Amino acid sequence: MAASFAILTVLLLAAAPAAGDVDWHKVGDETADVLSDVLRIDTQNPPGGETAAANALARKLEAAGIESEVFESAPGRGNLYARLPGTGAGRPIILLAHLDVVPADGRGWRLPPFAGVREHGYVYGRGALDAKGIAAIELMTVVTVARSRQPLDRDVILLATADEEAGGKAGAGWIVKHRPELLANAEYLLTEGDHIHVRAGGRKVVQVAVAEKTPCWVKLTAHGDAGHAAVPPPQTAVTRLVRALDKLRRYRTAVKLVRPVEAYFAALAPLEKDPLRGKLADLGESLQDPIFFAEFTRNPRQNALIRNTITPTVLQGSTKTNVIPEQATAELDCRLLPGERPADFIVLLREVIADDNVRVESVLSFPASSSDADSGFMNAVRKLAAAEFPGSPVVPSVIPGFTDSHYFRDHGIDSYGFVPFVLGEDDEKTVHGVNERVSIENLRDGVRRLVTLLRSLPR
Ligand SMILES: [Zn+2]
Repeated sequence: MAASFAILTVLLLAAAPAAGDVDWHKVGDETADVLSDVLRIDTQNPPGGETAAANALARKLEAAGIESEVFESAPGRGNLYARLPGTGAGRPIILLAHLDVVPADGRGWRLPPFAGVREHGYVYGRGALDAKGIAAIELMTVVTVARSRQPLDRDVILLATADEEAGGKAGAGWIVKHRPELLANAEYLLTEGDHIHVRAGGRKVVQVAVAEKTPCWVKLTAHGDAGHAAVPPPQTAVTRLVRALDKLRRYRTAVKLVRPVEAYFAALAPLEKDPLRGKLADLGESLQDPIFFAEFTRNPRQNALIRNTITPTVLQGSTKTNVIPEQATAELDCRLLPGERPADFIVLLREVIADDNVRVESVLSFPASSSDADSGFMNAVRKLAAAEFPGSPVVPSVIPGFTDSHYFRDHGIDSYGFVPFVLGEDDEKTVHGVNERVSIENLRDGVRRLVTLLRSLPR
């Protein structure tokens, strides 16, 4: 009995390498293969067509002995869900990535955007970073933990979703609304948003997005009498619309330094030399100085982090030069700071426009929220950073764009934008651009760092 037990133990140990025994080189290669496969499936949104990509990931999980479910929010709009059980000592963590991509016009690309080509240590394709590369490392993290046969303290929930690039209503939003039981009791969520930056001079900064600005997309509709453009009345739908837009163009939104933004710049301050170091350390005070204010806000990203923004994008009037249309419309992409209420902002827009003939309506908006910058999750990131990048600060950041995080923050889950890739500007600018790519080194280290992070989360 004792002897056979010993043999069984030996067999189990042979089949279950310790975390330190993982062949990371092989894992990196395997992750690159998963990514190439899924990059070859065209999921440009619109229309998305994410089901095929979700199915490809489900097959990979199945081969590793992990059950998953693919469900559609609408025909072709597939979402993948899988759960790797832990011991139950801690609450679940969700790993989220989206499967849709923004359009890519292959003419500008050096390599075709939907071929998943590997070249000189990189995998190329639309979505390599945003966000199929993230889905690939999250999936391989789950597979690697499963293979180790050393369960985590908590369940890991893997979600690969549709529609993020168009607002997520057919993906993350749909899941929160229609399948909330899949997320029950989850404590944390990890998704895109920020990463490990390489600054000029090679210094690394580990940034974790804890808050983001929120969209408040608005449609303006101006009305007037239709008619022949040869005999125009003093005001038409088009001139009313132009006047409204001009008022908005002249309007300066108030400067508001919200707490997460103040903390973000204060955390970046030590990386700078004086006098900038001192200025960023107390941004509230520094912005009182008109010279510094002008300098700071000249950077569009910095400017966007201290005020709500109003950006006209879509315009529509007549389709014929000699016809005055009955209505003219404009769409505004407004972005609000954490803590702002979209309904209040719409009221403000109406006041600025001050014309009853121009209808102002909301097209898309979410309340803006943020996550705890001092949670157990953040502490685990700090531990990871200390071990991997000694001396590199961990900076809780605020991003001017938005991700699917808000659906989960509103659902009570602390959500973090953190992809453990080390990226320089050359790589960053390929996101939504041409020749999007991710290095196989990042894929390999990304999985390794995620496994480490999950293993070091406090209960
Ligand atoms: Zn994305």
